[in-house]
Amino acid sequence: MSSPINILTVKCPTCKRQVAWLPENEFKPFCCERCRLIDLGEWIMEEKRIPGEAIDLDFEDNEDHFFQ
Ligand SMILES: [Zn+2]
Repeated sequence: MSSPINILTVKCPTCKRQVAWLPENEFKPFCCERCRLIDLGEWIMEEKRIPGEAIDLDFEDNEDHFFQ
């Protein structure tokens, strides 16, 4: 009889693959570096969708140069 090894597994948020929750897995809860980067990339895209005031100020500055 072999003793059962309890390994906690989680689903990779990007590809939904089962990932073993191990201390050596530096990308957890992701299965690999690629999935982690994809998820981070999506977060950055979400933030860029929100219009910032800096963009408006920059536009006004360019307009000033145009009329001179
Ligand atoms: Zn994955």
